[in-house]
Amino acid sequence: MDLISKLTQEKCPICKDTLITNKSNTLFSHIIKSCPKDHYEKEFIPSLEGYVEHYK
Ligand SMILES: [Zn+2]
Repeated sequence: MDLISKLTQEKCPICKDTLITNKSNTLFSHIIKSCPKDHYEKEFIPSLEGYVEHYK
């Protein structure tokens, strides 16, 4: 399983909706996933090999 398909299975921790992927910065593989209802946002930062999470 590659990273992208793993990411696409994630859900909002608040409403359990599937997170929407916004690959606006594909050059750096910078992936932002967010709740369609705007509760939650998760950013994958390749240079840190980790995530930053935002609760709204
Ligand atoms: Zn939500």
